[in-house]
This record gives sequence, C-alpha cells and structure tokens, in this order.
Amino acid sequence: MELWYTEEHTKNAKFSIKVEEQIHSEKSEFQKIDFFKSKEFGTFFTLDGLMMVNEKDEFIYHDMIVHVPMATNPNIKRVLVIGGGDGGTVRELTRYNTIEQIDMVEIDEKVVRACEKYLPITACKLQDSRVNLYFQDGLEFVKNTDNVYDLILVDSTDPIGPGEGLFTEEFYNNCLKALSEEGILVNQHESPYYDRDAHEMKRAHRKIKKLFPISKVYQFHMPTYPSGHWLFGFASKKFDPVKDIKVKAWNDLGLKTKYYNTDLHVGSFALPTYVRELLESVDE
Ligand code: SAM
Repeated sequence: MELWYTEEHTKNAKFSIKVEEQIHSEKSEFQKIDFFKSKEFGTFFTLDGLMMVNEKDEFIYHDMIVHVPMATNPNIKRVLVIGGGDGGTVRELTRYNTIEQIDMVEIDEKVVRACEKYLPITACKLQDSRVNLYFQDGLEFVKNTDNVYDLILVDSTDPIGPGEGLFTEEFYNNCLKALSEEGILVNQHESPYYDRDAHEMKRAHRKIKKLFPISKVYQFHMPTYPSGHWLFGFASKKFDPVKDIKVKAWNDLGLKTKYYNTDLHVGSFALPTYVRELLESVDE
C-alpha cells in the first residue's frame, strides 16, 4: 500500500508527497500537528493539513527571512520572532555574534516541543543563551512593547486559524511602535500566483504600506508551498533593502549560506510585471 500526503493548493490543484511513515500526530489547543517521513523531502510537518517545514527546502525560507534584513542593517542587536515554532529562523539568527537578544513568541508550545524531538535540523538553537521563548499570542505580545526591537520577523502560518491576527492593521501598527527608529519588519507575505493567496498578499501590502515609510516585497522559490512562488514583505522606518545593503560587510562575515547571497538579495526585489501590478493595484 502506498501512503501519500496531499495538500489542496486550490479547489482544482493538489500537491502530493509520497510518505514513508507518519511519525507523530496530535491536536493542540490551536491546531492539528502532524509529522511525516518522506524520501523526497525528508521529515516534514504540517499544521491543520498545511505544509510548514521540511528538511529539504527549509534553508530557502530561513535564509531569506533572516539574511535580507541582517545584510541591510548589520547593527541589529535585538530581534523579535513571532511564530517560527520550528526554530529555523532562530537558528539562522544565532549565527550572528552581533545579535544580543532574540525573543521568540510562539502561540503553540506543542509545535516547539514536537520540532525539538522530530526536526532537530531547525530546532537546534533554541537553547542558545540569547534566546527567550514566550508561549503566547504574538498579537498580544506586541501590544505592550515600545521602541524595543531593531528587527521583527513574522514567521507565521497563513491568515486562517491562530495566524489570522498577525495579518491585521492593529498588529502591524503595534509592530511599528515596538520597533526602534532603525527598525525593520519582515513578514510572511503569501504568494502572488493563486487567487486566494494573491488576495491575502494584497491585503497585507495595503495595510503595511499605509503605516511604514518604506515598504517593499521580495520573492523566493519554495517548492512545497502553493505555486512555489512565495513572498516576504520588508517594511522599515529608515532602511531601503536595495539601496542600503552592506554588501562588503555581509560578505566579510564569511557566513556560508546555501540560498542567500548578496546578488540574490538585490535581485529578489525585482518582481515580475504581474506581481508589481497586483501590488500597485492596492493604491487604487
Ligand atoms: N514557514 C512556515 C510557513 O509559512 O508555512 C511557518 C513556520 S512556523 C511553524 C509558523 C508558526 O506560527 C506556527 O508554529 C504557529 O503556531 C505560529 N503562530 C500562528 N499564529 C500565531 C500567533 N498569533 N502568535 C504566535 N505564533 C503564532
């Protein structure tokens, strides 16, 4: 008998991975958590039936969420990660000796504990002495925070279920307040390709653009996410990610990365025409 994991990317398009075995399944207060082993993508886990992280392509997502802002402002010292329960974003952040504090606010402790057990490739740095874990809603956490962080990374699920609040204007406004004068916000910005994802992409962009002096979008290729074409938002009070990138400073750090490089950094902000038009249409 063959076992397949299938995710509905639209009502008319599905994506499947052949599964060797299911290694874990539980229902938390917030969502259903499942772990599988596969030949093609190694161990992977899903929340409410949607792909989150797998061993094969996680480097793409985690390189791009972390190194783009870090190469834009190498003086980042205090970082807030919202979501990110698999630990991959924290793992990349801990590679910078210059970062002094990493607060991670994850709503679901069960995701973190399961990743520590089944996905150590991403959860391996959660014990770093600079990391503080908070198990609470990110929306609530940023409400009472003023001028504290140089960087906020929103490593969230989609805007359904517990992640919904992380796509609201109230949340982005509180992020703006929680950031220092040099602050940068990078958020999971959905995808331009399928209608439902493009709708969420536009909604998020409209809200962030209204609030931040600089608001851009950059792309990366994620084989296991719907259409494979995914985006992060880059919003900031001061830094432009293309004009202000510190190419030499970042390369002098000597960090070995498998996806990110400083040429790609600049190129990732060059968007296809239809994506530009979709983003520009939020002004109409
Ligand atoms: N790379 C992944 C993706 O985009 O598919 C996301 C990774 S990470 C597993 C997303 C995490 O966000 C989940 O563990 C989920 O529990 C957490 N999360 C969802 N809503 C949240 C909220 N309101 N506050 C804090 N964490 C939240």
